[in-house]
Amino acid sequence: MEKRYKGLSIFEFQKMYPTDRECYKYLAEMKWKNGFICKKYGHIHYCKGIKEFDRQCTKCRRLESPTAGTLFHQIKFPILKAFYIVYDVSTSKNGISSCELSRKLELRQKTCWLFKQKVMKAMESSQNFPMVGKVEVDETYVGGQDDKALGRNEGKKKIMVVGIERGAKGVARWYGRVVETASKVNLGGFMRDHISSDAEVKTDYWSGYKGMETHFPKMTREKSGKKGENFKQMHRVIMMFKAWLRGTHHSVMNLQPYINEYTYRFNRHKMGENIFENLVQRMVAKPPYPYKDFIY
Ligand SMILES: [Zn+2]
Repeated sequence: MEKRYKGLSIFEFQKMYPTDRECYKYLAEMKWKNGFICKKYGHIHYCKGIKEFDRQCTKCRRLESPTAGTLFHQIKFPILKAFYIVYDVSTSKNGISSCELSRKLELRQKTCWLFKQKVMKAMESSQNFPMVGKVEVDETYVGGQDDKALGRNEGKKKIMVVGIERGAKGVARWYGRVVETASKVNLGGFMRDHISSDAEVKTDYWSGYKGMETHFPKMTREKSGKKGENFKQMHRVIMMFKAWLRGTHHSVMNLQPYINEYTYRFNRHKMGENIFENLVQRMVAKPPYPYKDFIY
């Protein structure tokens, strides 16, 4: 059996969501948990729509489905299969490729790939929980010389800034961002978005980190050492991420969504059974992500 996080097992999942109906019911509960608000004029009174879980504004007669205005917007295949994709992406320890999803769910690979991009959109960091305590920041190249398999097709290296939060047992959380250059503006932007200003931040002596003490007064700097021995955990995290990327995706073209996907799961591995629900909630809360926004 595939390795999964403990929590909602596939059997429990199947029991909770046996048909499309339970999925729509769950989405409607999520979407309107704080009451109905008509999207057009903000009216709050509704009656049942044509389909079971649709709602209709009693004042302006506007109809709304549970999926409208969410990342499930205008989905062209059964919602139950979409739930399976969210389940698999959130609970498989190493994620799942669109090829595997296609085989399991009898959908076209392209359909799975496209929908998975939407799931990955929901995995973006909210930046609401900055890293605290002992934090380390470093940059690394992805693709190019170091990662021949990854860079082969594009021949382009990408720079990724990485921040890790150290916990009692290794790395508690981490975030990463693709940047054009390792400049002060780019590094500082990432650090301010993801690190609390009173964290004990450690960086190396790269000039891009110079002067960052004004925002992070507890910041210290240390030589990274010959093989990065002063940033051991950092390099372990980076190595594991690169190995995953190489094994699953073979391309650095669209790197940021994969960083988001990987860190989302990594940062929540303690969440267990709520990870699936958390991701569905995020998908309901996010606006639609039409294909034209990510197909070039
Ligand atoms: Zn209305």
